[in-house]
Formats: sequence, C-alpha cells, structure tokens
Amino acid sequence: MVLLLFGPPGSGKGTQSGRIADWLGIPAISTGDMLREEIQAGTPLGAAAKSIMAGGGLVGDDLVNRMLAQRVSAPDSAHGFLLDGYPRTVEQAEFLDGLLAERHLQTPIVLHLDVPMDALVGRLTSRRQCPKCKRIYNLLQMPPRVPGVCDDDGTPLITRKDDSEEVVTERIRTYDEVTRPVLAYYQDRKYHQIRGDRSPSYIFEEITGILEPLVSKNGASCCAKAKAKQSSDGFAAL
Ligand code: ADP
Repeated sequence: MVLLLFGPPGSGKGTQSGRIADWLGIPAISTGDMLREEIQAGTPLGAAAKSIMAGGGLVGDDLVNRMLAQRVSAPDSAHGFLLDGYPRTVEQAEFLDGLLAERHLQTPIVLHLDVPMDALVGRLTSRRQCPKCKRIYNLLQMPPRVPGVCDDDGTPLITRKDDSEEVVTERIRTYDEVTRPVLAYYQDRKYHQIRGDRSPSYIFEEITGILEPLVSKNGASCCAKAKAKQSSDGFAAL
C-alpha cells in the first residue's frame, strides 16, 4: 500500500503519518525530515537545500526526486510506504508514478488533510519537535507532559528554524501556489479529503476508517499490524 499525505504546513501531517505508518507497519517517509538530516550531516544535498528551506521555498525537483528514489529502494519499502510532504509539484507526482510503475506498486491512496488557512500560522509557531524521534508537540493543543522535553525519550524539544512567522507565511503561500494544484492531478484517483481542524485522535479514527476496507484487500506481507489490530478489535478475519 502506498499512501500520500497531503496538507498545508501545520495541517498535522507529521503527527498523523507516524500513527498511520505504525498502525500499518510501513515506513513513514518525510522528505522534509530527510532534507533536515542532510543539512545536519553537512552533505552537498543539505548545503543546496539549506537556504531554500530557510526561506520557505521548495528544494529543486531533481534533488528531491533522486533522494526519494533512493529512499524507497530500501528493503523496508518493498511492499509499500507512506509519503509525507511528497510529491509537492506536478513534476514530482509524474516522477512518482514512474517509480511506482517500475516497482509494480499500486496506485497511491491520497489522504488530504484540509485545514482553514487562518488556523495554520498559530499552529506552526507553537509547534515543537523532538530532534531524536521526530515526535511533534503543540504548546497549545498537544503539550509534552514535562515542559520542554519529549514524552518518549526525554530529549529537549526544539523549534524548527522555518517555524518563524515570516517563513511560515511563505511556506503557506508556496503550498497554495505550487502544491495545492497537485491535488488536481490525483482528483480522479483514490482521493480522500479529511477535515484537519479536529483533534488528532478523531482524525486518526477517520483515516483508519477509510483505510480498513483497503487494508483487507492487500497482500499478507503488508499491513500485518493493521490486520492484527483489526482481529483484536473484532473485525472479520481477513
Ligand atoms: P511543512 O509541510 O510543514 O512545510 P516539511 O518538513 O514537509 O514541512 O518541509 C519543510 C521544507 O522542506 C519545505 O518548506 C521545503 O523547503 C522542503 N521540502 C520538503 N519536501 C519537499 C519536496 N517534496 N519538494 C521540495 N521541497 C521540499
């Protein structure tokens, strides 16, 4: 199963992608996280991406496509994966189609987290992230149990450099102008729009409700955890 998680910056993609991937037993691949790791490691790709990301623009398609192709060729992605923040341009969407065809993977399922634009800036400027496990917190809605540290591993939380109000505004503009039109590319495929202005648990329930019937059609090697959960939840045997 290949899932694409779409939504503007601050729509909750990162929070949902971790939960969904864990539930399905497939890797969650965030191109934003990968690029931040490249910057941290000081690679040539990181050097090329750094100033673009700092300004809220998009890193070049060639660079991102190559990085993505390499990542999904890892053994953990053989039966499917979830993409968070990719594709962001029509060119990336076309590249992904070619990649999926090459690997004999199914048409992706698109989950679009839609959040009113006026809610996004506040969400992003109050966002904090664990640099180690990447878990996302929000000081207003989802604060950590102990202020400033990750519930899971005790690592001090950080504010992403591009979560300043000025850069956030530019990221939202880029999403609206360049990435939102990509949704039209997927409109006549397996496309699901989900209201993202509700609690993370409510949204996750809605997503699992959409995916459950599709999981049951999938091969045994994928989604083992989802199937186990379905059995323990009393769903029909698959
Ligand atoms: P958000 O969705 O909240 O903006 P991400 O972590 O997905 O955050 O992305 C952060 C930044 O990384 C983007 O603003 C962009 O500069 C870069 N980036 C991530 N994914 C892509 C992509 N698929 N294509 C181009 N640039 C990307």
